[in-house]
Amino acid sequence: MRLGFHISIAGGLAEVVPRAVRRGCTTLQLFTSSPVQLQRPMLNADDCHQFIEQLAAHNIQPHFVHTSYLLNIASPDQKLWERSVEHLSDELRRAKLLNAAGVVLHLGSVGNNGAISPGIDRVVRALDAARIQAQNDVPLILENSAGAGNTLGASIPQIAQILAASQYPNSLQFCLDTAHAFAAGWPVHHPEGLEEVLTELDSALGPERLVLIHANDSRSDFNSHVDRHWHIGQGKMGREAFRTIVNHPRLRKLPFIMETPGTEEDDMRNI
Ligand SMILES: [Zn+2]
Ligand SMILES: [Zn+2]
Repeated sequence: MRLGFHISIAGGLAEVVPRAVRRGCTTLQLFTSSPVQLQRPMLNADDCHQFIEQLAAHNIQPHFVHTSYLLNIASPDQKLWERSVEHLSDELRRAKLLNAAGVVLHLGSVGNNGAISPGIDRVVRALDAARIQAQNDVPLILENSAGAGNTLGASIPQIAQILAASQYPNSLQFCLDTAHAFAAGWPVHHPEGLEEVLTELDSALGPERLVLIHANDSRSDFNSHVDRHWHIGQGKMGREAFRTIVNHPRLRKLPFIMETPGTEEDDMRNI
C-alpha cells in the first residue's frame, strides 16, 4: 500500500521530498505555498521540474496538492468567494506544473447564519468557474468535513448533490478523511459501519469517485462535529479502527495520507 503524510513546504519546494523520504513516504500531499497567504509568487519551472524528478527517484507517487485554509468557495461574501475561485484555478495550474494527481479541497462554510442551499450553489459555481479559468483537467478532489460551523461536505447526499449539479463531474473526485467522517457521525471505526459508509459512497457518488484516504485518528468524539486530528490508534477511533481500514481490500489499494500533528518522531510512529 501507499502511505505518506502531508509534508511541509517550509523553506521551499526542494525541502519537500527529502522530508518525505526521511519518513518513509511512498505518497505525499503538499501545499504549493504557505497555506495562510493568498498572495504568492508563481512557481518556478526549474523548481517544479526538479521536484518531479526527486519524486520519481524515490518512487513517491501519486502526490497531491491541498488548497489553502483561507479559501472558502461556499462563502456568502462575494469578494471572498471571487478570491477563492481565483485561488482555486491558480491551484489547478500549479498542480499541473507539479504533475500532481489532483487538488484536494474543503467545500467551505456558509458562516454562522448562512443558508445551506445557496451555499451548495456557490460551491458548484466555484468548482465550474475554477475549471474554466484553469483550462486543464487536473482532478478537483472534494474532501468530506466534520461539519463544524456550518461547513459543507459533512453528509454524503450533500456531496452527491454537488457532483450532480457540476458541469464537469468527470474531473471531480473524492477524498475520505477518516477523522472528519468519524466526527461527522459516519461509522467508519467498526467493520460493519465502514462497509455501510463505503456502500453509500459508491451508490451516491459513483464507484470510481473515491481516490484518496486522509488517514487521521480523531481527538474528538464520534458525531461531535469537531475537527481534531490525532495520532493513529491513540484517538477516539482507536487502533482496531485503523486495523480494519488499512486492511480493507478496497481501501488498501488507495493512497493513504496522514495529517497528524507533531514532530518527525511522531510521524515515524504513525507511519
Ligand atoms: Zn484531511
Ligand atoms: Zn481536519
